[in-house]
Amino acid sequence: MVVENSASLANARLWSQHGLCIFVEVNLGADRLKVLMDTGSSPEVTLHNLDALNIDPKEIDFMFLSHGHYDHTGGLIDVLKRINRKVPVIAHPEAFSPKMKDLPFLKYIGVPFSRAEAENAGAVMLQCRSPVSLANSVMTTGEVERVVPFETVEGFSTVKGGLYIPDSMPDDQALLANIKGKGLVVIAGCAHAGIINIIRHSRKLMGVSDVYAVIGGFHLAGSKEERIASTARALLELDPAIVRPGHCSGQRAVSLLQETLGDRCQPLATGDLIEL
Ligand SMILES: [Zn+2]
Ligand SMILES: [Zn+2]
Repeated sequence: MVVENSASLANARLWSQHGLCIFVEVNLGADRLKVLMDTGSSPEVTLHNLDALNIDPKEIDFMFLSHGHYDHTGGLIDVLKRINRKVPVIAHPEAFSPKMKDLPFLKYIGVPFSRAEAENAGAVMLQCRSPVSLANSVMTTGEVERVVPFETVEGFSTVKGGLYIPDSMPDDQALLANIKGKGLVVIAGCAHAGIINIIRHSRKLMGVSDVYAVIGGFHLAGSKEERIASTARALLELDPAIVRPGHCSGQRAVSLLQETLGDRCQPLATGDLIEL
């Protein structure tokens, strides 16, 4: 966990900030796949923590942007500059749309640079609405099917075809892996599509019913009590072995998830190493 909202005493040398950046290393037997999922809010924090964690950006094979909000994309240009070569960057085509939040006042929260600037810094943009396969049993979700009635998207707006409209965040995606003998691993950015929608979509996509681990932002900060309780019930039913909520999950949701799921649920903090 390169950047997360919470600091931990065990990793006091790292900086914390509202945002998310996760370094994912996948053991493929002879090879190791290294993916940087999201890049935090600010380049200073992301680069400081990568250095402090001894992660060499030059080793990154792929970058994956979970969605087009600044707190997941802000460090991209500087990480690309540090890598100093062409790197594939996977994102939904609408990640670079203008993105606003409506409350407490209208504010731009989209990607703080243009697609062309990212490309000039070395990004080879792989823009795709469909899932992208990174390796055997490792893929992105693509656009997430929305079926869970209580997981609605509110409070965001965008511009499409010249019109200012509500933003349903179609660009929201997660990173998935299927670990042999254990099951599905879901790493969500902000889960604007809804964490239960994402898990259901992922099970279908990977053809795996056992959910092993759910990690990342659950976007329940500020959500109504009813939605938090429904999410906790649905997660209990899905029965994952490991649940690590962080970033935009919200303290109330984390507490209820811990109460519902017991020791299986531990909040995330910057610097956490999760071995699966
Ligand atoms: Zn977001
Ligand atoms: Zn976020």
